[in-house]
Amino acid sequence: MPENDKSKGVEFRFECPHCGAEIEDVEERKTDWISCRHCGEALNLASQLALDRADHNYLLAQELATPELTDRKRRQAEFSSEARDALFAYQRAYTGVQVALRAELPAAQQTWALQIMAGVAGILQLHQMISGLEARYWIQRLVCQTVRHEYEELDARLSEPHPSLLTRILHHPRWRLRRRQLRRALIHREKSLKMLERELAFIDVPQI
Ligand SMILES: [Zn+2]
Repeated sequence: MPENDKSKGVEFRFECPHCGAEIEDVEERKTDWISCRHCGEALNLASQLALDRADHNYLLAQELATPELTDRKRRQAEFSSEARDALFAYQRAYTGVQVALRAELPAAQQTWALQIMAGVAGILQLHQMISGLEARYWIQRLVCQTVRHEYEELDARLSEPHPSLLTRILHHPRWRLRRRQLRRALIHREKSLKMLERELAFIDVPQI
């Protein structure tokens, strides 16, 4: 969480997404990248800070959310204060993830960022805060990521050295078939994502 102390500038602390060690006494805007003192991995500060804020706002929005948010007939002007606060927290989460994705995040954080986007995009679209095209993009992006993970997992299983005879006879043909299907699906999905990216004309194309 960021800590505001005017005498020292804005400082914040967060957990290293690679090793879980706490990183503290980091001054915002002092540098773009730092190395975790524990595991040595490079971390982009602006991205980590933006994701931390997005995460906080996403959880806050979920706590405040009321059924009004998903009621298609209800207009924003008629919202209760909780629903209005939830909607703005969702919006802050959305823009936070957009900033976080300007630099490449570690894999687990990428997946979490996409889960936030896919969860929030539908709600923001319902209230005309983003376009249907943009909402579709984030939902498709998450689906694509899930397919890619399944493909990589299967690929790793098939590349394991010295499989048993039973594995080779029983599982390998099925896994190979599934890997082929996933590969085809991935090519198709990534192509439509590229088309959506072109249509949306992102200023900063998400680094995923
Ligand atoms: Zn670390």
